[in-house]
Amino acid sequence: MAGASAGGIGEAVLDSVDRRLLDSLQRDFPLNARPFAAIGERLGLPEEEVLVRVRRLKSPAKGRLIRQIGAIFDTTALGYRSTLVAMQVPEDEVERAATTINRHPGVSHNYQRDHAWNLWFTLAVPPGEDLEASVQALVDQAGGYPYRLLPALRVFKIGMQLDMESASDISPVESAQGDRATPTPTLNARDRAFIRELQEDIEIVPQPFAGIAERLGVSQEEVLAWLQEAKAAGWLRRFAAVLGQRQAGYVANGMAVWRVPEDIIEKVAAVAASLHQVSHCYERPTYPDWPYNLFTLIHAKSREDCQAIAGRISQATGVTDYAILFSTKEYKKERLKYFVSPQEVMTSKSHSLYADAQRYMPGGVNSPVRAFSAVGGEPLFIAKGEGPYIYDVDGRRYIDYVLSWGPLILGHAHPQVVSALKEAAERGISYGAPTALETELAKRVVEAVPSIEMVRFVNSGTEATMSALRLARAYTGRSKIIKFEGCYHGHADFLLVRAGSGVTTLGLPDSAGVPEGIAQDTLVAPYNDLPAVERLFSENRGQIAAVIVEPVAGNMGVIPPEPGFLAGLRGVTKAEGALLVFDEVITGFRVAYGGAQALYGVTPDLTCLGKVVGGGLPVGAYGGRREIMEMVAPLGPVYQAGTLAGNPLAMTAGIETLKVLAEPGAYERLEENSARLAEDLRAAAKAARVSVFQTRVGSMFCTFFSGERVVDYASAKRSDTSRYARFFRAMLANGVYLAPSQFEAGFLSLAHSEQDIERTVQAAEEAFAGLDA
Ligand code: PLP
Repeated sequence: MAGASAGGIGEAVLDSVDRRLLDSLQRDFPLNARPFAAIGERLGLPEEEVLVRVRRLKSPAKGRLIRQIGAIFDTTALGYRSTLVAMQVPEDEVERAATTINRHPGVSHNYQRDHAWNLWFTLAVPPGEDLEASVQALVDQAGGYPYRLLPALRVFKIGMQLDMESASDISPVESAQGDRATPTPTLNARDRAFIRELQEDIEIVPQPFAGIAERLGVSQEEVLAWLQEAKAAGWLRRFAAVLGQRQAGYVANGMAVWRVPEDIIEKVAAVAASLHQVSHCYERPTYPDWPYNLFTLIHAKSREDCQAIAGRISQATGVTDYAILFSTKEYKKERLKYFVSPQEVMTSKSHSLYADAQRYMPGGVNSPVRAFSAVGGEPLFIAKGEGPYIYDVDGRRYIDYVLSWGPLILGHAHPQVVSALKEAAERGISYGAPTALETELAKRVVEAVPSIEMVRFVNSGTEATMSALRLARAYTGRSKIIKFEGCYHGHADFLLVRAGSGVTTLGLPDSAGVPEGIAQDTLVAPYNDLPAVERLFSENRGQIAAVIVEPVAGNMGVIPPEPGFLAGLRGVTKAEGALLVFDEVITGFRVAYGGAQALYGVTPDLTCLGKVVGGGLPVGAYGGRREIMEMVAPLGPVYQAGTLAGNPLAMTAGIETLKVLAEPGAYERLEENSARLAEDLRAAAKAARVSVFQTRVGSMFCTFFSGERVVDYASAKRSDTSRYARFFRAMLANGVYLAPSQFEAGFLSLAHSEQDIERTVQAAEEAFAGLDA
């Protein structure tokens, strides 16, 4: 068929084997333990070649011709009730109304169409929920405009199969006939768990059902048997590949609606359904202001082609009263996720644990951003972590890009770290006396980080920065410090200062309980703004003890330093007799083994570490030139101490983590995977026409929902945080755990595989497409 020719498929060029493969994947995906081997047998190809080709056809670089491979469930058979809804919304209110409607997780499609009834969405609600009341509530929220409920009364055709090989446009692939009676759902909790897992795309690996079985805690055979049962029960419509219609050249989508006398409706439907370009054909109710009772969805390469196809149907049936409503904007198009509705969430274990936690701890959490307040919803309670994944207490698995806010660069529960920790714990948990482990970790830090000749271990990043700046003040005999807007250095009183926007503004505390007097010695400059720093120095000559900076900003999203910024800070601090302090709590052992200072070739006087250096246990560290560090007690007059500082478990986790990181190729792998993730995320956003500014340094990354370059706090703050929140929630629903705030870094670990990245990008494609482009 013409739509499948190479010219119509974006960047993908298909050979005849690809075409046969696509047909096979769409028609009859083998439900056995080695499905790709079985397809290979059909086509006379080795399994490995099938896998390579399928991966290529699914890859964003090739235009993702295959959109998904997996189970396609029958909404009605699962007990969901659904309806199409048409609304009349004033032109300048459509955008807002669509945004409101899209917030509902049961809305899977939402289009603007060129008709008086101009906003069309589908809503599905889970068993037990009142569909009509849900629509009414949603319409009320969206502005209370006129609407008509248009549920399917009869389904004549559903589903689309793009014929990649033959020239025929007749495709009696999947015709359904009969009443849309709701069967009594007999799903139990086990079935729902299976559906939750199986509604995700399968992995393109030799045994794609093995991982699913593992997550469900059953055997592969049980998964395959369940799929057969689900098919027999009518829950599973089919298990197949779905091709991207746009990518396959079908860029126009017209909803042709027909006014058909009741006695010939089946005949007319049969004609329409026989056409390959008609993906859906339904009977729906009529109203005085909506006379059309037969709906056909036509996919073609152009509007003209859609019109021609409708013309053919009209000619063949004699039905002349019809209209074609073209979509002018796609507000939402995503697969409905079953059994993850708000109702499910409200009955989840996470929900009840959170309720309990809130009774005993402020906000139910021990660090504010964990509470999800920036993205809405409730935090997940985590049951375990393994490699790149975390599992919540309800058994859902997520690909984790938070990684405990950065420390877990090896992934969760790395076997080498865990076994060393077990052994260490058996020798005693803490002594409050020196151990060789402290010297071993100190040695590794000194060898790795260019600026550090001596180091002191503490228990957190907060302690590290607070102590380093105490030391800088003691060393210089000065009291003022300069920090940058949007940089976070822990919660020491004098560092909880962002100070609005004025460059020369004196520090005003961000937090209640910080006396102004304490914040007044903290001066603030915009990130990446060297002249502002120079101005502060000239206005406060001889008073500035130190400039503290995140060499890659990681607490307002991820913002790399502009060329010359760090070197400029080095120059001005040296000239002014102040110390340069790099807060490498995030970047240390993260962006390079030697941290950002090694990556950018700028050596500060003092460096603060945390996160990775503790391998997931509470560790911070500060270090620098010997003559400065020798001022720390007991050698010098600067007091700083810690009951559990340098404890054997924390040192062990740090040592084992650094050992793995020091292996050849570790950072190259991180770099390669991170580059691929960031690039594919950028491409996915672009394909969905969502404006983002993607940043990355090594394995830290951020997708700013912004159409502009983000270089400092002010530009970061102009990001669309509500869009990020929607993106975050869509990713979470798709099994990807991102930081619950636009202004946090994403992290990759050595445990993240290419498959994980691919799955993440797929989820992002769906999430981006669900945002109002
Ligand atoms: N410095 C930076 C750059 C950080 O990102 C953080 C925490 O995220 C800290 C300091 C404070 O570290 P901690 O939370 O371990 O006290």
